[in-house]
Amino acid sequence: MKVTEHFTNAGENTLVSFEVLPPLKGGSMQAIFNTLDALMEFKPPFIDVTYHREEFIYNKRPSGYYEKTAIRKRPGTVGICAAIMHRYKVDAVPHLICGGFSVEETENALIDLNFLGINNVLALRGDARQFEDKFIPEADGHKFALDLVKQISGMNVGKYLDAEIVNGEPTDFCIGVAGYPEKHFESPNWATDLQYTKQKVDAGGDYIVTQMFFDNKVYFDYVDRCRAAGINVPIVPGLKPLTRKYQLASIPRKFFVNMPDDLVNAVLLAKDDAAVRQIGIDWCTAQSLELKKAGVPCIHYYTMGDTGTSKAIAERVV
Ligand code: FAD
Repeated sequence: MKVTEHFTNAGENTLVSFEVLPPLKGGSMQAIFNTLDALMEFKPPFIDVTYHREEFIYNKRPSGYYEKTAIRKRPGTVGICAAIMHRYKVDAVPHLICGGFSVEETENALIDLNFLGINNVLALRGDARQFEDKFIPEADGHKFALDLVKQISGMNVGKYLDAEIVNGEPTDFCIGVAGYPEKHFESPNWATDLQYTKQKVDAGGDYIVTQMFFDNKVYFDYVDRCRAAGINVPIVPGLKPLTRKYQLASIPRKFFVNMPDDLVNAVLLAKDDAAVRQIGIDWCTAQSLELKKAGVPCIHYYTMGDTGTSKAIAERVV
């Protein structure tokens, strides 16, 4: 079923969904199953699986020179989605990124998804590679998520890259796109950021999932701004609980989000890791309950491999 159909069927109820990362190469699928086995009691109608671009590693050769090699450290998104659907009978939402893909590889990946019966996808640009200061697309790849959304929408009406394919089988993807309540860090200002988000929706984006935020006001204001800009699709809040003191610096650095004073001060005064984690759980639970009360269609939790924390929150929210 499509993600948006789940929202419709839920009516006034707020759903919960979880996002998992593929294990590092060499790791076991069991790690994903262990995570999801613990979270299925909360009846998530869909599970997102992230996609990770290749990274460069440098190996020292006997000559002393370093050899640059591109490796994908967390492959397996499509296989994991198929395995999740098979094992849990819930929908899976693979993230598909522009980075590292030519448009033809993207088309082929979408054909694989279609043949596997996976008809949801979160269409993203992806971040810059590690050690690169800006996003560099493939020479024949998409530069922005908008172009990826257009390609998927095209396939939904039977349009393939090969112009000779005339009566192409239409796919039926429900397309999610990313939104940034605190503005995407590369956008020069709010208005531009919203304008690009609107373009993704107008091109076929069926719903938005937001970047994490720690202050619900930021989300509510964002929804108001989107509605004023004519963006009328469901906007799913994405939440990540803070669990470690060092995240006071690492989360803003990586995700370009702010943290409210009360949260920061509480974490700074916490006496140990367990106390920080509890503060993070309580904070995220309070955010979730307020969002639920406000009638959001779904709360999307970034688990980032930390099952216990997600479970502790969901137990108090669902
Ligand atoms: P875009 O919508 O393309 O926007 C990127 C930037 O370009 C923005 O600043 C935008 O304003 C600007 N822009 C857009 N269109 C134009 C245009 N026509 N002209 C000029 N500028 C333009 N990353 C991963 O690698 N894997 C994942 O699995 C993943 N999952 C994510 C899930 C969610 C819910 C979110 C919010 C993010 C996720 N990301 C993931 C991170 C995401 O890839 C980065 O935030 C990335 O920097 C931007 O992606 P986007 O799809 O928002 O890009």
